[in-house]
Amino acid sequence: MNQKRSSELVRAVQLSLESKYTSQLIKSVSGDTAQMSSACAHQSQIVMEPITTRKVFVIYTGGTIAMLENDEGNLAPVSKEVLTDWLFRHLLLYEKRPNETEEQARERLTVEDGWLLLHQKAVDNYNKDFKVLYQIESLDPPIDSSNMTPSQWFEIGDKILAAKDDYDGFVILHGTDTMAYTSSALSFILWDLKKPVILTGSQTPLFYPRSNAEDNFIGALLMASCYSKNQFLQQVMIYDDTKLYQGNRVCKYDCDSFSVYDSPNAEPLARLETRIKVRECKPISEPKELRVRASISGFPDVRLLKVFPGIKAEYVTSILNGAHGLILETFGSGNAPDDPHLIAALKDADERGVVILNCTQVYKGTVLPIYDVSSELREAVVSGYDITPEAALAKMVWTLRTFPDQKTRKAVLEASICGETSAPPAKLIFV
Ligand code: ASP
Repeated sequence: MNQKRSSELVRAVQLSLESKYTSQLIKSVSGDTAQMSSACAHQSQIVMEPITTRKVFVIYTGGTIAMLENDEGNLAPVSKEVLTDWLFRHLLLYEKRPNETEEQARERLTVEDGWLLLHQKAVDNYNKDFKVLYQIESLDPPIDSSNMTPSQWFEIGDKILAAKDDYDGFVILHGTDTMAYTSSALSFILWDLKKPVILTGSQTPLFYPRSNAEDNFIGALLMASCYSKNQFLQQVMIYDDTKLYQGNRVCKYDCDSFSVYDSPNAEPLARLETRIKVRECKPISEPKELRVRASISGFPDVRLLKVFPGIKAEYVTSILNGAHGLILETFGSGNAPDDPHLIAALKDADERGVVILNCTQVYKGTVLPIYDVSSELREAVVSGYDITPEAALAKMVWTLRTFPDQKTRKAVLEASICGETSAPPAKLIFV
């Protein structure tokens, strides 16, 4: 048997969905077995390794990745059925063998019970024998992520918690506009899940020939499955343009490019180039004594205020009126004008129980207690260190919803819960 034929056979063996072990599969390939084992002696390592099945739960929330033009010519999310049908047709494109009909290929590649198979050619990048299966569930209806709300963050978190023992990893298809908020929120909601949760989306739809959608989706599936036991990657992440980021460190910084995100204060966790390189960083240190018991019903009123030159105390007061929490985006390393009326407005709110988190409006860097101009401000606010505004907002919602008293809330906001800031991890939190 020639080399090409033998590699085709090895591939055929790897593709079979029927059996657990490749060695058993070889026996089922009638006639060619003996020749193949000698011709493929150099591949024996691959051939003899057990195939590991990994299962991924995909939650399709909407977003450009699965949008098509509606009757008005505007992009809107398609149904889960349209998405699933396209994915199956794409599987055929890659995995149909030249010598079989489309019906035969469909028959061979169809998995029961709504499971879909990830193309073997994608899994091969990992260079190990994996069979990756995924199931898709959809938000009802799928949405443009501009419509995503905190209540849906918790709904998605609940879906994942309910399914956590049945899957090795999770992929969330999401619009890019608010993905950094959702990924941040999920990092808190799922802080002790210990499985990969990867959000991804795209700038043009999966259905278009020029798109970053396919690589993003396949890369996310691959990392959530084949790498699910890697402890560095057992957290909430975003996959975009060959890079896997920590989900609570990311900002959308380009709405034209196929490279949408940046992580200004933290290096990507992995790069999926011709080879997949995982950065062997320290796993996120867990909070020592975080007790999350109380959960307050309803959603807090969280507001966002960007400090600007000439900002008036009355403006600040009006924003604070009725708020439960405020993200204050300050200048540079955490500075604001030392106008006594403005400081009084902030202190007054703090005394009323409003929690104020100070984070910098500068893209990169951290809040530091070094300038005299902000010494009084520091008495009214909690330092957010180098947290992004997106993660700050999500953390504020989660904190106010989870912990009932202001002292605990401030302690939680000041500490790192799941690597969202460079602050020391939370130590002792009274609930
Ligand atoms: N408006 C879209 C959304 O966020 C944009 C995108 O997906 O890139 O849902």
